[in-house]
Amino acid sequence: MATSGARSSRLGGLGQWWGILAGALLIAAWINEAAGPAVIITLSALVLLWSVFQAPVTCGAPVRGRADGCRNNVSGILMGCHIHQHRWQKLKMLIFRRRVREFCSGLFSDGKATLVTLAALGSFLSGLVALAPGVAA
Ligand SMILES: [Zn+2]
Repeated sequence: MATSGARSSRLGGLGQWWGILAGALLIAAWINEAAGPAVIITLSALVLLWSVFQAPVTCGAPVRGRADGCRNNVSGILMGCHIHQHRWQKLKMLIFRRRVREFCSGLFSDGKATLVTLAALGSFLSGLVALAPGVAA
């Protein structure tokens, strides 16, 4: 994890967005009834893992004097950047209930974050529905 900064700058670009591609395949799998639940569950899991652990978003931890918070790049919507105080910032917000709203607003702080958050929610729901078909019907 300590080398994630170097790694993400080397990969960079579109390679970091493979989760969106998997998300598009997931939507296609839902539309195309030939795709079985196994395909949908696999794609859902991939997209969810990507958004939580790999998606290129900004850190967003509160920084004194900056309304938009920390702008460092991070991988995944749950983790902060390399700055020690930021790393667990978002998980802490989830644990302390009074900060959950702050956490949620951070998930929609910019276009990228919104896209990744929607991908996470969509894939989570999709996986849930695929695993428990009774829920959808
Ligand atoms: Zn940060």
